[in-house]
Amino acid sequence: MSESYIANFGDGKADGGAGDKARLGGKGANLAEMTNIGIPVPPGFTITTEACLAYLRHGKSPESLAGQVEEAVALLEGRLGMRFGDAENPLLVSVRSGAAISMPGMMDTVLNLGLNDRTIEAHASRADARFAWDCYRRFVQMYSNVVLDMNTEPMEHLIDETKKARGVELDTDLTAEDWQELTARFKEMVREKTGADFPQDPKAQLWGAIEAVFKSWNNDRAISYRRLNRIDDDLGTAVNVQSMVFGNMGDDCATGVAFTRDPATGEKRFFGEWLPNAQGEDVVAGTRTPFHLSTHRGGDASLEAKMPAAYARLDEVQQTLEKHYRDMQDIEFTIQHGELFLLQTRTGKRTGPAAVRIAVEMVGEGLISEDEAVLRVEANSLEQLLKPSFRKEALDAAEEEGHRLAQGLNAGPGAASGRIALTAERAVEMSKEGPVLLVRVETSPEDIEGMASAEGILTARGGATSHAALVARQMGKPCVAGCAALDIRYASGEVHVAGKVLKEGDPLSIDGTTGWVYSGLIETAPSEVQRVAVEKTLEASESRVWQDFSKLMGWADERRRLKVRTNADTPGSSSEAVAYGAEGIGLTRTEHMFFEEGRIRDFREMILARNEAERREALAKMLPHQRGDFAGIFRAMAGRPVTIRLLDPPLHEFLPHEEKQQRELAEDMGLAFEDLQALVEKLSESNPMLGHRGCRLAVTYPEICEMQARAILEAACEVVAEGGEAHPEIMVPLISEVAELKLLREVIVRTADAVFAERGVKVPYLVGTMIEIPRAALTSGLIAKEAEFFSFGTNDLTQMTWGLSRDDTAALLAEYQQSGLLKVDPFQSVDPAGVGRLVELSCKEGREARSDLKLGICGEHGGDAESVKFFHRAGLDYVSCSPPRVPTARLAAAQAALEGK
Ligand code: PEP
Ligand code: MG
Repeated sequence: MSESYIANFGDGKADGGAGDKARLGGKGANLAEMTNIGIPVPPGFTITTEACLAYLRHGKSPESLAGQVEEAVALLEGRLGMRFGDAENPLLVSVRSGAAISMPGMMDTVLNLGLNDRTIEAHASRADARFAWDCYRRFVQMYSNVVLDMNTEPMEHLIDETKKARGVELDTDLTAEDWQELTARFKEMVREKTGADFPQDPKAQLWGAIEAVFKSWNNDRAISYRRLNRIDDDLGTAVNVQSMVFGNMGDDCATGVAFTRDPATGEKRFFGEWLPNAQGEDVVAGTRTPFHLSTHRGGDASLEAKMPAAYARLDEVQQTLEKHYRDMQDIEFTIQHGELFLLQTRTGKRTGPAAVRIAVEMVGEGLISEDEAVLRVEANSLEQLLKPSFRKEALDAAEEEGHRLAQGLNAGPGAASGRIALTAERAVEMSKEGPVLLVRVETSPEDIEGMASAEGILTARGGATSHAALVARQMGKPCVAGCAALDIRYASGEVHVAGKVLKEGDPLSIDGTTGWVYSGLIETAPSEVQRVAVEKTLEASESRVWQDFSKLMGWADERRRLKVRTNADTPGSSSEAVAYGAEGIGLTRTEHMFFEEGRIRDFREMILARNEAERREALAKMLPHQRGDFAGIFRAMAGRPVTIRLLDPPLHEFLPHEEKQQRELAEDMGLAFEDLQALVEKLSESNPMLGHRGCRLAVTYPEICEMQARAILEAACEVVAEGGEAHPEIMVPLISEVAELKLLREVIVRTADAVFAERGVKVPYLVGTMIEIPRAALTSGLIAKEAEFFSFGTNDLTQMTWGLSRDDTAALLAEYQQSGLLKVDPFQSVDPAGVGRLVELSCKEGREARSDLKLGICGEHGGDAESVKFFHRAGLDYVSCSPPRVPTARLAAAQAALEGK
């Protein structure tokens, strides 16, 4: 027997159900499921994804398909007492695509199929002639476009011309005769274009539509949607052939879309829109403004008020569906002469805050378990709960007025508005008078203060682990990075984008959650979680959002094994991270501290020192600042472990590169300008990221390591002397050879012994290293002998494993993703096949050499849900991420633990 490609549904029973998404597509599987549980669904049949895949593979449908479709049509005709092409009671169907993963609007649909010059009369007698001819012309238009591959714009022009000639504005003002004439003209266009008559045989029409839907799996829209959403290309689409019901047959007809709960807030309230006397596409296309469903929001214009019986039935159905699926549903319905039909149900998309509220409330209602609640909320979406966002009305207005300019990488979530500042200095100055956005080609450590004083950061270059992205995330600032459409001209103080010229000082808005950039200011609203946890301007008891959030986080914490730390450089961001549940610090980048007012000078003096004595002199001036900073962090972390990394970036990053600033610095330091220039020149490297940086700085200048170790340990002693607790973990960056670590470890231990002797206190501390160079990973067994912990620096490890610059390749990686060459950006989500393997090998060999080796990760991947799951499986002890991603990491860690069960 040949394979069956058909699943029928109707008369309360269906071949298949919700579990058959891979075969029947999401829409088909749910039509079957609804039929089985007694929800009113117009009968029909689904052609499986396997038929589509066979079609795409061989360029033609499987042989047995035609016969199977004939049978299914005959069954449908029998069920409804209608026939294809019948002059008295013609069967009309819709033909819709439906993949396993929903791809709304990406593939093709044909409605009213079965109409022809014969059946039109009978169709007209069901309601009226105007309605029937409107259906026919829509069918001819859709069919010409989808199946005959015609450009149907000329048809739309004809409609416009006719309206003009009749002196009317709306489609609904045209008469039956108008539509009849237009249909005839459309058919003529088809004949001219294709050389054949518009197909009159409904079975031929059906066959054409089925194959067109198969083909639409590979149209450009569908392909790029799959790329963007990381959907496999080889799933194929099912085809749903379903008897038509009409929401546009008169005033007792209607159509609409609804969510069983509010998808924006999660509130348990039936929520949706409808239009009387309309077809589904009228609601979606926005040509008529729909009304709210319930009287609560829609008053007299609501479906509840206008058609109470149908509304009551709909309300009953939506409750049944939600209970049955145990999740919020997004439904489409049609009411034909007062009778309700469901055309679709699927899991409703929702915002982060809505996801949390729905999951928590469903546990309360006994609908789902705590485990399910933890698994159901998308971990990455939690960041939305911690960030200000644009007020919805303000954003809608901005979109409507055409303020959307360009899209970059959504590098730091949240929305921000402000005036454009093109340099860090200007940002600091301008921020005294109001909010600014720092807009740069790219940022560097020199820009830290400007970044700190800006509301948000926008760059034209740079990827997910570029300086701008990671510093912004650490500071909790919205950031759009790598927005290639920006042409930033520092010389003229202009930004050219989307045909507009913006000047420094002009208002601009960025949405770091979506990556969109807008001209003008858009009003933002703060997040409740932030107000309760960080700003303390809202009582926990007064915020539902906070209560739901903490409940979910509590459930997550009970289930996870992986600990979650944070990357923080200041007491403020450390406390913020603790408020979000961080259990320690996984990375303090000490270099970020040097840019504060008054400190950079000492640091530059250290860099420019001509000998060790001069260098030690400069370092001695830096010591008290560092000690103060570290003590502040230890206090904020109240005894939790704190990993502090020794100096890491290439030194030239700390020197000015513009002549004007160089001259100022030379004068300030009592150097000849030419001498300073020569020193800067000497420090410059062709490949600074592969150059004199990381532990290599301390290897050549051990006194830097000595000063930093001293500052860390003196700070720890100070805090302990106050009665506090401190657990420093000193981390050596960028090791490639164990001898480097051995050398620096000795410097650190010697310094510690000296400090403890001077202070008369002993503080427990660890010495460990970062694994961020492939050679370090490959020699982990040796390195572990000298290290009490490893922390994977997956930013550099990715850069060096791929041989891809983390600062310059955002556009290239975007292109790779666009073309399907890469599914994900390896700087955003850890690459399990390459970088991930190095991590696994390093964990294994490291632990073999030292069984109690502590393992963590502090690259940006520590806050990405998929990566966190990978690190759980790899057996790490903790992940570390920027403060606002801590909840995401907590939830992802719990999900990983549950998925591993
Ligand atoms: C890393 O390389 O992953 C890391 C955490 O260090 P940085 O980003 O500061 O180079
Ligand atoms: Mg690094």
